[in-house]
Amino acid sequence: MILRTQQTIETSAEVKGIGLFTASDVTVRFLPAPENHGIAFQRIDVPDSKPIPATIDFTVHRQRRTAVERDGVSVEMTEHVLAALSGLHIDNCLIEINGPELPGCDGSSLEVAEALLDAKIVSQTEPRKCIVLNQAVQVQDKAGETGIDAKPVKTPSLVIEYHLNYGETSPIPEQKASFELTPETFLKEIAFARTFVLEAEVEALRSQGFGLRTTAKDLLVFGPESIIDNTLRASNECARHKVLDCLGDLALLGCDLVGHFSAFRSGHQLNREMVRQIKLTHSAQFNSGDQQVA
Ligand SMILES: [Zn+2]
Repeated sequence: MILRTQQTIETSAEVKGIGLFTASDVTVRFLPAPENHGIAFQRIDVPDSKPIPATIDFTVHRQRRTAVERDGVSVEMTEHVLAALSGLHIDNCLIEINGPELPGCDGSSLEVAEALLDAKIVSQTEPRKCIVLNQAVQVQDKAGETGIDAKPVKTPSLVIEYHLNYGETSPIPEQKASFELTPETFLKEIAFARTFVLEAEVEALRSQGFGLRTTAKDLLVFGPESIIDNTLRASNECARHKVLDCLGDLALLGCDLVGHFSAFRSGHQLNREMVRQIKLTHSAQFNSGDQQVA
């Protein structure tokens, strides 16, 4: 099914920042790319390394984030950047990066999305491939406590809803978010939503060497009573961020999606498993057409 033509950016865009996990200084440059190129990362600090396609086949197992790897060279924290590209319908882009992790910015996709808009999104002529869900797809953890249900829809749209419930003792209240994804709703309702962490988890992450240059101003840190040194941008900002993460991970399919995704307490690992299951269950659609990624 084809709903639109492919898009890229007219000029390059640049974002500088610090990696949330690795604390490395990093500059990322988004470059225009030809039709059927797809999204790919190029580590310019690693001589002779190959571009790493932003597709599920190149993902590697990580906790609390998504990463892609090729020949032992990896790029960490792909999800917020891929959400910005997917949310704005930018299909072809080479992303040069001079370090191992994409910049965390403020924990959301906003700075990257604004830089991409400044670079001007332009239409190409080739159609954008789209997988239309024609059957239900479910993934869940072993205990059945977290999961994602995906179902076909009658209208040609992608809907992602997220139900967050960490229990009555969590400082993060139960909340939901549900959006039909368009570039307009992405920019207005989702792009600003920041990542979050419990204060109780911060020490454990730091002891593993993560987040050493990140403060409570750089993302949402929930203490036992309230958010530390920060204010919410929306009452359900955490659920909105989970929609953002889901969108960024679903982009690893390398094409548009039509369907209704309902996620309950799920994270990156289940998002990636959903992409694998869609590839398996919709292989006829996935293998048709001529789009190749990098
Ligand atoms: Zn995230």
